[in-house]
Amino acid sequence: MSIRTRLTLWYTGLLAVSLLVFGLLVYSALSRILMTAMDERLAAQAQAVIDQIEAENDPVAIVVSGRAKLPPIDVFGSQFYIQIAQLNGQVVQLSDNLRGQPLPVSPAGGVSSRQRGVTVNTNQGVQLRVLSRPIVLASRLAGTIQVAQSQAATDDALLATRRVLVIVSISLLLFAAVGGAFLARTALRPIQAITKTAQRITQAQDLRQRIPVIVPNDELGRLTETINGMLARLEDLFKAQQRLVADVSHELRTPLTTIQGNLDLLQRGAADDLSTRKSTLRTMADETARMRRLVNDLLLLAQTDAGLKLHQQPVELDTLLLEVYRQAQVMAQGITVRLGAEDQALVLGDADRLRQLLLNLVDNALKHTVAETGEVTLTLRRTGGWVRVSVEDNGAGIPTEDLPHIFERFYRADPSRSRPGGSGLGLAIARWVAEAHGGRIEVESQVGKGSIFTLWLPELVTRPGQPAGE
Ligand code: ADP
Repeated sequence: MSIRTRLTLWYTGLLAVSLLVFGLLVYSALSRILMTAMDERLAAQAQAVIDQIEAENDPVAIVVSGRAKLPPIDVFGSQFYIQIAQLNGQVVQLSDNLRGQPLPVSPAGGVSSRQRGVTVNTNQGVQLRVLSRPIVLASRLAGTIQVAQSQAATDDALLATRRVLVIVSISLLLFAAVGGAFLARTALRPIQAITKTAQRITQAQDLRQRIPVIVPNDELGRLTETINGMLARLEDLFKAQQRLVADVSHELRTPLTTIQGNLDLLQRGAADDLSTRKSTLRTMADETARMRRLVNDLLLLAQTDAGLKLHQQPVELDTLLLEVYRQAQVMAQGITVRLGAEDQALVLGDADRLRQLLLNLVDNALKHTVAETGEVTLTLRRTGGWVRVSVEDNGAGIPTEDLPHIFERFYRADPSRSRPGGSGLGLAIARWVAEAHGGRIEVESQVGKGSIFTLWLPELVTRPGQPAGE
């Protein structure tokens, strides 16, 4: 069953129940009011007759004779039927309009003066409301008076009310069902639009399409915006995946082409010459190493995407930096590598990954710095609960427009220059390592003057007597 049908049925059903309860309450209240009013009229009539009997009889005469004089009861109009009975139940007087027929109720005594009227059916099928009252003369119960009136007018009024209630209720229910179905359709129309667009996107496999937002601030508007946000994210991921495949293929093609070329050379007899053979094999080994590095980096990034966890333990960062400094000196090839200020600092982290990060930064600094005049300086400082490691060079620098992108995968500011050894993954990995340690990497650079890469890591304060920060 569709939501629209369910909604319509629900509120039509609720309205039906409300109308039923309302109708029953109104009807029973009205019928009570009408009956009470009728009883009051009958009681007034009975009282008028009783008053008249009392007025026309002398109490002493009644006590002496034991009989009472009854008034002519027809003067009270023809709409009331009146019957007077003695205590033994014998009817002694009937109003003329009864034409000698006693009322179809027991005329026996024992009635109380607060009793309500009762409804009885006559032989002619007429409904009568009958009220009985005791007649007390000279402080003695002398008999009963019963006053009756046809209930036809009241019944007609109640019947008319019933009809009105039923007709109005049915009309309201019809109106609610039609109106409800219409409202439900109007309210759910944007959902249809959303479904159709989503289907179109699925069929066309075009993640660039977006669902139009009809009313921005309601529930459906927010749903549309959420779906659009999801589409944008999917589109980004999809593009990133396409870009990654293209980049990886591109990166692997170059070393493979080089290896293939060298193999061809060897096949064509290059192996015969010792020096050519050596250089060919060295090139092939270099390219294979590059591919291995690239594949390792890719594997690491794939693992980080899948939520790789680091093996964290306390690491003496100053000792680690010293190791990196020594290695940098080996890699320097004529560039001066300096160790600047070095505080002692402890961090919680994965020593291998942190070493890899620092070596990436040093490797980049060396790659983009010229031999002889080039200088790379490593420093470590503790500041306010943080450990700050910077790798500064006086090399080529990075153009301002490239700065926001250098941490992206496969991004190279100047592909022609950064070609040797680089795959454009080094900084992406470095940033992931920093963030996985709860830290970050910042960069400042000026073209022609050099760059400073700064790694911030939260300090681990456990060494006794070692204050946090400077
Ligand atoms: P690559 O493998 O190409 O070095 P990275 O992710 O390590 O990749 O660096 C991305 C780009 O950032 C590099 O291609 C280079 O253009 C630029 N870059 C990184 N470090 C430096 C630096 N110290 N000096 C100048 N440019 C740098």
